[in-house]
Amino acid sequence: MINSTLRIAVPSKGRLAAPTVALLQAAGIPVPADDRRLLVPVPDQNVELLFARTDDIPTLIRDGAADVGIAGSNQLLEYGSDGVEELSRLGFGACRLAIAVPADSAIRTTTDLAGRRIATSHPVVLKAFLAEQGIDGIVVTLSGSVELAPTIGAADAVCDLVSTGETLRQNGLRPIETILRSEAVLLGAADQRDAAGIAVLCTAIESVLAARPKRYLMLNAPDAALDAIVDLLPGIDAPTILPLARSDMHAVHAVVDAADLPRLLHPLKEAGASGLLVLPIEHLIP
Ligand code: AMP
Repeated sequence: MINSTLRIAVPSKGRLAAPTVALLQAAGIPVPADDRRLLVPVPDQNVELLFARTDDIPTLIRDGAADVGIAGSNQLLEYGSDGVEELSRLGFGACRLAIAVPADSAIRTTTDLAGRRIATSHPVVLKAFLAEQGIDGIVVTLSGSVELAPTIGAADAVCDLVSTGETLRQNGLRPIETILRSEAVLLGAADQRDAAGIAVLCTAIESVLAARPKRYLMLNAPDAALDAIVDLLPGIDAPTILPLARSDMHAVHAVVDAADLPRLLHPLKEAGASGLLVLPIEHLIP
């Protein structure tokens, strides 16, 4: 793999497409905007982007048509095989696979599903769940409009992906069980895990993901307040302290959680910090 081209399967459309492109761009892999080709070489990098349906991405990797790819973790279970594994969780595309029934249904729990028809586009995961629970339900496989199945008399229940729950509500459905939680993942062939190009990509992506919730905080501290200010700050190991040209002040730099900033800024200011700057971080390897 070292000198050969790394082919990355990228969702061509759907919910995972835009956040995947944003992540690859941030990781230093430019994704052309208005390119209609399905196989696009990345200039100056040994990388090719293969645009594909997320449902197909586990199969493309299994068959060696792509080295790595991005899809939902549910899709790895549904379409994957022993040869494909999760390399990184990507922190977007969170959803759950839930069983739902019409709001007025007598079905209350999964045990009530015995002998009932459950419509789904995820038959592999649903059958595995029913088998594990010892529930003798009838799986009706549909490729779309699953939520409609009870209304049109095609099923007694559905098993579908849910993020906010709004689609279920709008279709008069009530969730009774979550059978799987899913998010976008980077997939790769199990036997290629340590290949150089894949390790390089994983590090680039993981450093972007690690950086996203962090900020780089810089401030100036009068020497008399330096200890008090440093005590307020975490930093990856410890804050950096640099002398300023003015002899009675130091600059303090620290990596902080973005979520902590609102409650950090005021005490820092009160303790005597000035010239406070907060910057985004593009990559972080802790
Ligand atoms: P796609 O068919 O390309 O839109 O991708 C569908 C995948 O996006 C699913 O398999 C999930 O992993 C993920 N996803 C995230 N949120 C949702 C949602 N609310 N409904 C369907 N899929 C979702």
